[in-house]
Amino acid sequence: MSELPLTLSLVLRRAARIGGARPVVTARPEGGERRTWAQVTERALRLCGALRRLGVRPGERVATFGWNHHQHLELLLGVPLLGAIVHPINVRLHPDDVVHVSREAEDAVVFVDASLTPVLAELRSRLGHVRHWVVMGEEAEVAPAFAGAPRYEELLAAEAPLENLPEVDERTPASLCYTSGTTGRPQGVEYSHRSLVLHAMGALMVDSMAVSERDVVLPLAPFFHANGWGLPYSAAFAGAALVLPGPRLDAGSVARLIERERVTLAAAVPTVWNAFEPVLREGKHELSSLRRILCGGAPLPMRTIQRFAEHGISFLHAWGMTELGPSGTMARAREEGFPEERLAPLATQGAAVPGIELRVVDGAGRELPWDGTSVGELETRGLWGASRYFRGAAGEERFRDGWLRTGDVATLDAHGALRIVDRTKDLVKSGGEWISSVELENHLMAHPGVKEVAVIAVAHEHWGERPVAVVVRQPESRVSFEELVEHLRPRVASWWLPDAAHFVAELPRTATGKVDKKVLRREYAPRAPGPPIREG
Ligand code: ADP
Repeated sequence: MSELPLTLSLVLRRAARIGGARPVVTARPEGGERRTWAQVTERALRLCGALRRLGVRPGERVATFGWNHHQHLELLLGVPLLGAIVHPINVRLHPDDVVHVSREAEDAVVFVDASLTPVLAELRSRLGHVRHWVVMGEEAEVAPAFAGAPRYEELLAAEAPLENLPEVDERTPASLCYTSGTTGRPQGVEYSHRSLVLHAMGALMVDSMAVSERDVVLPLAPFFHANGWGLPYSAAFAGAALVLPGPRLDAGSVARLIERERVTLAAAVPTVWNAFEPVLREGKHELSSLRRILCGGAPLPMRTIQRFAEHGISFLHAWGMTELGPSGTMARAREEGFPEERLAPLATQGAAVPGIELRVVDGAGRELPWDGTSVGELETRGLWGASRYFRGAAGEERFRDGWLRTGDVATLDAHGALRIVDRTKDLVKSGGEWISSVELENHLMAHPGVKEVAVIAVAHEHWGERPVAVVVRQPESRVSFEELVEHLRPRVASWWLPDAAHFVAELPRTATGKVDKKVLRREYAPRAPGPPIREG
């Protein structure tokens, strides 16, 4: 049989021919900037010419520092066609981490959004390895330090589409993304062409995201987060319309975009959808086109699922990791039954998508039964799973016998449905037993006075650790610690009840929008000697 290599040129050709007339829209303050896949792919090939002229060689890294827009999309498609590696840097990383990842990657060229040039202007002296800087976007926003840098559109205008693309082996690295760094320093994952194509095909499967030619796909997940969850490549392969949000990810802007572009599939972490409650309540936007919301990356509260269900919008609840590019599992609502019955499967993360395998192991590495109750560390492997970290001797212990130790604590049931109990680092270990911070958060979120909550472990002299809740109240709410305990009492074992609650205006977030429990643990660590922490 044919051994046609699984490279992104296969994806590009299909986008150009089959999806050629379908739109690619970037949200702009004055409306949408509209192109077609035919235009985007033609521009990606002109970009290849420009990269050659800049002296980019196969195997070199070309970084991006930008929001989701069509020029960034062209980089995601174009850079790998030359055998070079596109490296979308997380624009929300701490400056020291930006320097760290760019140095580790030895980025030869950096393409930066004009609006973000002030951020990089500060760091430029520490990024001496970068040979060229290229600016994308609004001239008025360019920081003085970048005044003389080449402009993206000028580079493209000077080129014809590159005709003779080099032959690229399917195992060649195509893209480099770093983990969010929720529990430690971000780790790089280098995706091969093969893994990106297989991941893109996987997303087209009906029991996965079912991306199709009829979809209008809105990746709110930034491209630096596992390539916008691979959706640009899946949409290109399917010939689906693609809508790119630019920097505005607040609920109002997203709702307007969904309404205007008739989006059918939108993808983002829970933070984005949790913030939708007021928009849904006010009902000012027509969201009926939205057939499914893809959500993963952090625990998804049942309350959010219910709020959208009341408006006829259903969730695809996914578990994934940067190391999986990121698609791992998928849960979807049942099509029939009472509302609660229909939503029940979404309380889990669902079964592994075809191509991915899971197992749960005990402390000695023995596989545990798929009974829905045996709790252990989740391990995974699959067609698009990483087998090591980029340049990383650090983290080697996470890859064992071809399986990746995820750092997630989970159960698998007889149907293969995964339930994430917690992250190993977030479990509260009290008196030798563990308490799931995720489960406590889910129950607390069901209280009408709670807008957001994080449960963290706080060191305790006698028990080792005890749970403490950090709570953001709803605007009108005065809910107290005692009321929250009463709310939890019938729902969890008494020794799970938090020792204290801190009421705050907002929760700290990591660069991909996850609650940053590292910061909370530091902030609320007991300071000896002192009174026990307790606030009403
Ligand atoms: P980081 O591990 O630094 O946060 P990633 O963005 O790759 O970087 O996150 C992967 C992790 O996110 C998983 O290991 C898991 O802990 C968490 N996660 C992903 N999806 C879900 C989900 N649906 N529910 C709960 N946690 C999730």
